Amino acid sequence: MSLFSSRPPKVVSWRINTKCNFQCVYCFAETCVARATEMGHTIETYPTTLLKRLQGIFPADTIMHLSGGEPFLMKGFEEFVGVMSEHFILEIATNLSQDVSRFLQEVPSERVNVINASLHILEREKRQGSVEQFIERCLLLEASGFRVVVEYVCYPPLLRRLEQDVAALEAFDLEVEATQFQGTFQGKVYPEAYSSSDRALMTRFMETDSQEAVLAKNDNLNFMGCMCSAGLDTITIDPDGSVYRCIAYANRQRECLGNILTEKIELLDEPGACLVEECDCPFQGFLYADLRLRR
Ligand code: SF4
Ligand code: SF4
Repeated sequence: MSLFSSRPPKVVSWRINTKCNFQCVYCFAETCVARATEMGHTIETYPTTLLKRLQGIFPADTIMHLSGGEPFLMKGFEEFVGVMSEHFILEIATNLSQDVSRFLQEVPSERVNVINASLHILEREKRQGSVEQFIERCLLLEASGFRVVVEYVCYPPLLRRLEQDVAALEAFDLEVEATQFQGTFQGKVYPEAYSSSDRALMTRFMETDSQEAVLAKNDNLNFMGCMCSAGLDTITIDPDGSVYRCIAYANRQRECLGNILTEKIELLDEPGACLVEECDCPFQGFLYADLRLRR
């Protein structure tokens, strides 16, 4: 019997921890990190029945997107992913600051869609040899059969070096994708404040339609009132196991839908109106919301 009140979601986005060893000025996880205490779950402290329970909840080959914080800082992360990969197709967002040799032993590449490796060049340049180490790890993962996409956050001071940095990465045959900065810089709110030339530059390094769509339409990330199937086709899980419709709802701890550790999960029966003033992860909004109703 399914634990869901409706059909199971196709994409599960799980922020498994809040801890991070970087201090990016534009940290996207800021709201989560600021409000959350480090919940300290590890592969040892999660109930041993959890993995079996998840297998009972989600159909085989459900996409599970793992992020944090920095997920590799979770103790036992490699073993955790290895076990998860028996049932889920994984996607992992990481700053690739940790050694990956254990990961390579534990995780079969064919069960991982993509590793989104965020470069965070300003943080890396504070640490000697860190950029070179990042490139080495990307190449090692690729040589072991993983698809790696290097994410480059277009923080406004970085725009003048974007082209050069991307060329340096592409010289190693790495796949690079520019992503928008969402936040405030020098009193201007981004992404709205990107100029048309900024946008033209960034679009050159955006490989996916969703990246370009977000940038093209992102002068307003307010989908309030739109019917959205987040909470039905996708869910977001927070480090304590709480389930929400999406990242924006999780950030605001709004309308918790249950907890994978303890309770039945009550998803939406049908798409429901978005009730938050800003879609914190606009990719989710563009994927799941009915934008014809967008304000
Ligand atoms: S690496 Fe990611 S989670 Fe860590 S500070 Fe930077 S943006 Fe935030
Ligand atoms: S539009 Fe965005 S914020 Fe609103 S429910 Fe959908 S995913 Fe969440």
